[in-house]
Amino acid sequence: MAGEYASGPRRPADPLGMAPDEMRRLGHLVVDLVIDHFETRADRPAIQQETPEELWKALGGPVPRAPGDPEQAIRTLVESALPHMQHGDHPRYFARVPSPSSFAAVLGEWLGTGHNVIATSWAGASGPTTVELVVIEWLRVLLGMPEGTEGVLVSGGSLANLTAFAAARAELGDGVAYLTDQTHSSLPRDLRALGFPPSHIRVLDSDVTLRMPVGELAEAVAADRAAGLRPLMVLATAGSTNTGSVDPLPEIADLCVTENMWFHVDGAYGAPAALCDSGRSALRGIERADSLVVDPHKWLFQPYDVGCVLVRRPGALERAFSIDAEYLKDTAAARGEVNLRDRSLELSRRSRALKLWLTFTVHGADRIRSAVSRGIQLAEFAEERLHADPVWEVVTPARLGVVTFALSGSGDGAHAARAAALAADGYAAVTSTTVRGRGVLRLCTINPTTTEDDIVQTLARLAG
Ligand SMILES: *Cc1c(COP(=O)(O)O)cnc(C)c1O
Repeated sequence: MAGEYASGPRRPADPLGMAPDEMRRLGHLVVDLVIDHFETRADRPAIQQETPEELWKALGGPVPRAPGDPEQAIRTLVESALPHMQHGDHPRYFARVPSPSSFAAVLGEWLGTGHNVIATSWAGASGPTTVELVVIEWLRVLLGMPEGTEGVLVSGGSLANLTAFAAARAELGDGVAYLTDQTHSSLPRDLRALGFPPSHIRVLDSDVTLRMPVGELAEAVAADRAAGLRPLMVLATAGSTNTGSVDPLPEIADLCVTENMWFHVDGAYGAPAALCDSGRSALRGIERADSLVVDPHKWLFQPYDVGCVLVRRPGALERAFSIDAEYLKDTAAARGEVNLRDRSLELSRRSRALKLWLTFTVHGADRIRSAVSRGIQLAEFAEERLHADPVWEVVTPARLGVVTFALSGSGDGAHAARAAALAADGYAAVTSTTVRGRGVLRLCTINPTTTEDDIVQTLARLAG
């Protein structure tokens, strides 16, 4: 209930405050600068780097002792620091994983920061907690997970996967985790950080399509059982970062049922593809996951940072992470009063849900769906162009917004050099990577504002 309180004695001036007019003037300046960024970024470099000397000259110096000019300080950050980075929201940023964030999400971030939201307990944040539970429920529905699935937002895929692994182990105990050479490198790191010994981390060679070989997985599980080990969980990938490959999810899910193993799906990159028809068929089986990770700061149009972990078993996250000895899951859950601090390692935690809630509410799932779908189509367009030009050879076909390719008859070094030259020029950013030991170039095309011409010109410059 809102209260009205007569103001008491005069409050001393906030030593770190500003007059309301000054707050508005500087706030509006920041808004204008961000909108300028949105409006002009396509005409600026997709990636830019500066030397440590130049950056320290512009941004360093002794500790500022006296107050400075705030407008000048804001402009220094915008002019000297912010240009020098990979612009994941640039329409020709095709490297690693782009982050084509939406303005609605930026507004959500600003609201949350301005109100200093802490989303840690029900008593201290029933409003923001509800926003987060609502957003997790929307993600659950869109990804096809069953009712009762629970989740939490964390900083990104690395921490979301770690959170899932801790829950799996709290439910089933110690054991062996199975992955492949295409699994994202942060997952073995998560396992190491959780204390999985090397003997409990089984890395399988991926098959010719870069997917997890289910026959060999079954053999490894049987061999481990015969050796007295406990097969604990399979870490499947739904959209690998390198080539967009999807492990055979239904077959792995079946094996996990038979072997009583935890079925984890890392959809940090690819899971949003499940929103649209073509992606959903590629990701068939994702809905059977015991735990599923998705990174909204990649393909759900959110600025950094936000990752999400969904866990099928009600209460599993709390059983792994609750810090309240008197915590009574059943009473709390029955009333829907969730303490988000009990679902991951984060206690003091900001709200990463406001931006997602605002994005879904402002744009609606249909518009988001077609934006995701466009990313898939753009990679298919790039593949067609590559096939049409004998300079190029397609190495892996367009899959979930990723295509890899090579210069026909060129050595590995040529690719890295061309990617570096393009980045130095700033016109576009692409990744040079390796596929089955071969140096290749890679485009990740999930920015819905990318044009066909952006792709044609980027390929022309790379072929140059
Ligand atoms: C990006 C990525 C991760 C790691 O996520 P972060 O948000 O960078 O921590 C894990 N798995 C896959 C498949 C990814 O693409």
